[in-house]
Amino acid sequence: TIQQPYKVKWLTSDVEDHGPEFVKDFPHTKSMLDVFHSVFGLKKFRHNQREAVNAALEGYDCFVLMPTGGGKSLCYQLPAVLDQGVTFVVSPLRSLILDQKQKLLSLGVACTALTGDITKSEADEIYRELYKHVPGYKIVYITPEKIKHSEQLERLLKSLYDRNLLSRFVIDEAHCVSEYGHDFRPDYLNLGQLHVKYRNVKFILLTATATPRVKKDILHQMKITNAKLFIQSFNRSNLIYECRPKGTTDNALKKILTLIQADYKNQCGIIYCFSRNECEKTANYLASYKIKALAYHAGLNDSKRAQVQNQWANDDTCQVICATIAFGMGIDKPNVRYVIHLSMPKSIEGYYQESGRAGRDGAMSFCYLFYGYQDLVKMKRLIMSEVTMTSTKEAKKIRIDNLHRVYSYCLNNADCRRTLLLEYFGEAFSSQECKRIKATTCDNCRSVLKTKTLDCTQLSIDIVKLVTQLVGEGKKSRQNITLNQIIDILRGSKNKNIIEAKYDQLASYNSCSHMNKIDVERLLSKLILEGYLYQDIVVLQAHDSAVAYIRPGQRAHIVTNPAFQKSIKIELTICQQQASMSAEQKEKQKTPLDQLIDKCVQSLKDEFKRICNGVNAS
Ligand code: ADP
Ligand code: MG
Ligand code: ZN
Repeated sequence: TIQQPYKVKWLTSDVEDHGPEFVKDFPHTKSMLDVFHSVFGLKKFRHNQREAVNAALEGYDCFVLMPTGGGKSLCYQLPAVLDQGVTFVVSPLRSLILDQKQKLLSLGVACTALTGDITKSEADEIYRELYKHVPGYKIVYITPEKIKHSEQLERLLKSLYDRNLLSRFVIDEAHCVSEYGHDFRPDYLNLGQLHVKYRNVKFILLTATATPRVKKDILHQMKITNAKLFIQSFNRSNLIYECRPKGTTDNALKKILTLIQADYKNQCGIIYCFSRNECEKTANYLASYKIKALAYHAGLNDSKRAQVQNQWANDDTCQVICATIAFGMGIDKPNVRYVIHLSMPKSIEGYYQESGRAGRDGAMSFCYLFYGYQDLVKMKRLIMSEVTMTSTKEAKKIRIDNLHRVYSYCLNNADCRRTLLLEYFGEAFSSQECKRIKATTCDNCRSVLKTKTLDCTQLSIDIVKLVTQLVGEGKKSRQNITLNQIIDILRGSKNKNIIEAKYDQLASYNSCSHMNKIDVERLLSKLILEGYLYQDIVVLQAHDSAVAYIRPGQRAHIVTNPAFQKSIKIELTICQQQASMSAEQKEKQKTPLDQLIDKCVQSLKDEFKRICNGVNAS
């Protein structure tokens, strides 16, 4: 059931953010709001936008960290329109530049771009304009290569600077400056010179990469001290994250129906599905129970798509959208109370964005993720079988890794969901913060089970050895073994197939008897993700279905080589009570008194049986 709207608290206490200093009104406020409404046509500022704009207009250097889609561009575009001179925006990609330029031109903001691909005469025209007494552009986009190599540009900047018309440098995607970032670009390194050459020209640095280390390095590389920081936690504190095992799709659909009927009667939600077909099936199923559900996917024609969007905007005619990820960006409905993934997302980043469509109004909302091993195999198979220009081997590997990461996230029943999600964006988030606000605590933090960390290094070594031994390293001698078979062997299953194959005679048989099934699967999943094991997808032609066989991974030799073994450590956080002990271990833990009591109980039982038998006999 939905409770009171819940006020968003964006920041964890230890993040430095100067936002609060710039909430108040300034002399520029009236004209600033005027431009905001009339030029940009916007009504309300997003988090930290107004603050960053104020700081920039007050003459401070600014560092703005916001998630993708948070609205960083406005933070420099609005001051640029108000400033006297010209703002230069450094952006790494031509496509990003053209996109922004187009948008600004459509709003009537005088801007241009000096990219590598324009003709000499086009460039000359732009330069002529900028040398004018009153330059005809407010914003000029440039690539970092231009700054590095173009003397013509340097002369222009000098001229503008001397005439007091160089108002600001903006570095978009500023993490490219840092080698610690995920997208370092050598051409960005030079940008630090700008601050030396053009003293007193102000800077705005923008990024969506949150690691404190990258942040520090960006400021260092850019030689900027005393910047005002506008930093926003990526935590969505009004969202409640939950993962649930899926079972069959039909099974999951039933669960979803029950969930909607019980908790979200007149509320809106999005259900993310695997395929167009699954969207249709899900929508039809829910509609047959009188839930106003519609399918939305790339297969719809334009008019149908517009129609669904319109209905979605109006709560009365559509409550649930069953969508593929084609249902994206433009549609910003504030009161989405739940997002359900009937099919796993393709990456953690994707999950963050898709689940993030819930609760845009700040009210408490739920994110359910249904997961299953078969889905992992199915999605992996799809990636492998894809033949397009862009699906190189390397790109496929990244996509498969992303998928495994999501699956590990799902299987993880011990660590805080927020910690896991935010870790991906480089944000250290304490689970205490998640537990603190009871109403929105994640499933794992809500669990009453205590967790503990298990050192699985030796076990992992044994597992990799086991797989190597079973499967063999050469291609010829390959024996096919599935994840579930390995789990069965490790947990000492008495399953007929296991016994017939004599797997119970292997050294590792029963070595995970102290762990429950999901923890063993998590460990195996971790070993796959880290490259110690490899999951080979094989399509069975006869059934047109895919199975996954486990083989030694690229890094298997590290684990099996005694020289390297000391350097690895593999740990798993598990729920304590769930780890059931083997009979043997239980026996070991007993005190002498326990053992004495056991003996007495046993002899009483025997005596009782004897008497009963006697009674029966007579
Ligand atoms: P970022 O660079 O942080 O990824 P953008 O600046 O490209 O994000 O903005 C993302 C989208 O949000 C754009 O479509 C933009 O027009 C929109 N947007 C930005 N600020 C606001 C606002 N205050 N109100 C409504 N939409 C906004
Ligand atoms: Mg951007
Ligand atoms: Zn949590």
